[in-house]
Amino acid sequence: MRKTAAAGAVVLALAATATACGGESGAAGDKPAGGDVFSGDYKVASAPKIDSPVLKKAQQAKKLVIGVKADQPFLGFKDTTGKYSGFDIEIAKMVAADLGFSEKQIQFKTIDSNVRETTISNGQVDYYVGTYTINDERKKQVGFAGPYYTAGADLLVRKDDKSITGADSVRGKKVCSIVGSTPLQEIKKKKYGAVTSQQSKYSDCVKNLLDGQVQAVTTDDAILKGYAAQRPQKLRVVGKPFTKEPYGVGMDKTDKALRNAITDALEAHIKNGDYKKAYDGTLGKSGSKFVAPETPLPRY
Ligand code: GLU
Repeated sequence: MRKTAAAGAVVLALAATATACGGESGAAGDKPAGGDVFSGDYKVASAPKIDSPVLKKAQQAKKLVIGVKADQPFLGFKDTTGKYSGFDIEIAKMVAADLGFSEKQIQFKTIDSNVRETTISNGQVDYYVGTYTINDERKKQVGFAGPYYTAGADLLVRKDDKSITGADSVRGKKVCSIVGSTPLQEIKKKKYGAVTSQQSKYSDCVKNLLDGQVQAVTTDDAILKGYAAQRPQKLRVVGKPFTKEPYGVGMDKTDKALRNAITDALEAHIKNGDYKKAYDGTLGKSGSKFVAPETPLPRY
């Protein structure tokens, strides 16, 4: 069942309370953190034949463990009731349904960027959906299905700061990003001349920005727009992306059957409209423009 308006209002109220209590360093005028977002219901495949070692284990356990983010509004966000919501959560659920798992059988596990590769290759998660850029370096350690979305690194600044107009204007400025992320690697390059600091969660970088300890936060525009949407009076995204960040579903590198099945699932949900509906109800709400992913997706 789609979430009812009443249920949505409850989530909104709870999120607003959490913000007011200072859980996310909120203040009057802040929007609830990833509150009233879409939650879809996807048709669960019955006993799909997929020759995947990871899936066989999950079938025996009758449970799928999916690594996600918890502090990225409209993408991967955990509210005070413990419920996860956002675009990546919907992608995770769509894929799970095609692999034969209902939402009730999913255990979401919060995994920060710096431990993604180890967590996936150790088998602590069955797959991972969390603004995870596909690149050759990471492909040495994990497998990827996608891209299901393409973001770009951008800058989040305080609304009244007009001095930062793009990556070419951060020389000598304090810029925060997180460990194990591609935008941190990028902004550390000498050509930008930024004074970088690092945290393990983006929400901590955002706190540093609000407190005045740094002048900008850099990561994917899709993530930054969510933070700006929470605090439109205080924060803005510069709007000049300077990298390309194609998002993939990460999984065990050796499990080709799982990789193919997840690629099939992504393609099917892009084609049947579930993808757009989920996008419009989540990421689309923070102002990210809809661009349909190109299909067929690459296979390797
Ligand atoms: N997409 C970038 C990455 O995978 C930044 C976002 C993140 O840290 O999840 O490194």
